[in-house]
Amino acid sequence: MKVLTLNVGSSSVKFQVIDTEKKRALLKGLVDAIGLDNSNISFSISGDKFSSFNIKTSVKNHREALKYALNIVLDSGFSKSEIKLVAHRVVHGGRFTTPCFINKRVIERIRKLSELAPLHNPNNLIGILEAKKFFPKAKHVAVFDTAFHQTMPDRAFIYGLPFEFYKKENIRRYGFHGISHKFVSEQAVKVLGRRNFKLITCHIGNGISVTAVQVKNGRPVSLDTSMGFTPLEGPIMGTRSGSLDPGILIHLLDKGYSKNKLNDLLNEESGLKGISGLSSDMRVLLENYSSNRRAKLAVDVLTYQLAKTIASYTVALNGFDVLLFTAGIGSGSWFIRSEICKKLSHFGVKLDARRNKKNSLIISSDKSKVKVLVLPTDEELEMALEAEKLFNSKS
Ligand code: ADP
Repeated sequence: MKVLTLNVGSSSVKFQVIDTEKKRALLKGLVDAIGLDNSNISFSISGDKFSSFNIKTSVKNHREALKYALNIVLDSGFSKSEIKLVAHRVVHGGRFTTPCFINKRVIERIRKLSELAPLHNPNNLIGILEAKKFFPKAKHVAVFDTAFHQTMPDRAFIYGLPFEFYKKENIRRYGFHGISHKFVSEQAVKVLGRRNFKLITCHIGNGISVTAVQVKNGRPVSLDTSMGFTPLEGPIMGTRSGSLDPGILIHLLDKGYSKNKLNDLLNEESGLKGISGLSSDMRVLLENYSSNRRAKLAVDVLTYQLAKTIASYTVALNGFDVLLFTAGIGSGSWFIRSEICKKLSHFGVKLDARRNKKNSLIISSDKSKVKVLVLPTDEELEMALEAEKLFNSKS
């Protein structure tokens, strides 16, 4: 089956056509820097021959970006009747525990959840409405970033606020990156050929999150995760602050910071970028690690916070058997993995330096008590497979 996937972010639209039988993308595209001077459209088609295109043009807003993306799908030879299924990534799914077909009621629920995810859900909705116009006969499926974490026990998701804030305002920890954590956990089951183990997954890209996963009879169950009410919680990220003493926000409000200024500060100007004053891009920081004190500090804060988070999840899982790294930094940087694992040596984590430098699938030494894996994530493939599973179960 050919499934169109749409991943509409705050400033980009990623789209793919995936052949679910062959588990590979036939078309991959990105509309980037929406609303900025340097917007860019790129896509590649991998059929009998591979072709790749890059177009510099102004893209005013998300609606326009989606029109470009969906026209590219049609112009690349995928007909309206061929695409029977469109999988939409929806960042905030509230209490949704599984993917679901999108109907009026689901659209309303996603719209209501915009209150909890104002930077994400409204754009996800634009994607849904535009794609429904282009592919009115297709089934549209919402795949939620939060759904995987709905298995967390209440002791992991309740904040220390008065209980009414949870009951009346839905303020609780939700967790994000669920599509990625679930995908790599399922891959770990296949790679290890084991059906019961305690796993900690580390998604380290521009966004960063860690999840404690209990694998039971081959099925991964999330028990705790580092992102919370919003994707700001947890270790520092590319440009996001990660967890802070909430008193800092009161202090900044006192100093006259507006809501918008705080939002920009915490989401766009902090994390690796803010600490280093150089870049949010890990490759740039690593190139400058020995010569630039603040680049080193930013990287050291990140690896320290990641190791602390991983260590804390030994409480959620009562130990751990497998540690898994994924996403741009997690699967690309041997140095970051090595810095994190050094700080976990008292748990019996031991890397094989040669395997680690080669980005091998298993990078732990044979003597390590904990198996350490490097697995690329593929959120689009996971979305397509989840949508297909739902489609097959209901038809
Ligand atoms: P996103 O969260 O936007 O999907 P990615 O998962 O692609 O982001 O991760 C982007 C980050 O990964 C950037 O900081 C980039 O520098 C970093 N990265 C990618 N490849 C490598 C590598 N080989 N070594 C170190 N960092 C890398």
